[in-house]
Amino acid sequence: MARVTLSFDNGPTAETTPHVLDVLAHHGVRASFFVIGEKLSDPVVRRQAERAKAEGHRIGNHTWSHLTPLGEIADADAPEREIGRTQALIGDLASAERWFRPFGGGGKLGPHLLSPAAVRFLTEGAYSCVLWNAIPGDWKDPEGWVDTALEQCAALPHALVVLHDHVPEAMRRLDRFLGRALDAGHTFAQDFPDDCVPLFRGRVRAPMSPFVADAEA
Ligand SMILES: [Zn+2]
Repeated sequence: MARVTLSFDNGPTAETTPHVLDVLAHHGVRASFFVIGEKLSDPVVRRQAERAKAEGHRIGNHTWSHLTPLGEIADADAPEREIGRTQALIGDLASAERWFRPFGGGGKLGPHLLSPAAVRFLTEGAYSCVLWNAIPGDWKDPEGWVDTALEQCAALPHALVVLHDHVPEAMRRLDRFLGRALDAGHTFAQDFPDDCVPLFRGRVRAPMSPFVADAEA
């Protein structure tokens, strides 16, 4: 039986985030939403993030454009453009912490996640960098992800699961996942496992090098 923390990336969306919030509320589960700045800049979409915050969920930063992993962008302005600009837009929707989650394309962890400049930006801005340890692939397997997620959770003492509140077909199974996870005896929590947060409040607490591209790259 695992402790399970849920996170929803790549939203919010006016179509799917309301359903996700309804299902979480039904089960009394609080989660984290790592939002894309460009989507949040739409006032109608922003209301979903405001609702999430009001219902006790965390709002984190998942870059402005979500186009190219930060470790693959060489220009010096990228951290401000992708991270700083999004955080400014999140504004008071953020909690006490500035949670930032890089993206890797297909959920892969590796040196493509961050550039040295991005790490400096996060450190100087006292951000906390949130990775993950369970990627059930909901976006590519909108039915089967439920079984995959249950297997991944059962194999970990504390699973930090990445789901996507911009994939309606997948999120239609969220209620089924939560019901089966609770039946299996898993406990839902909102905190992140320490080993998924290598940078906390700007301080490095686990080696960052596996997630940072070479300075020369
Ligand atoms: Zn993402």
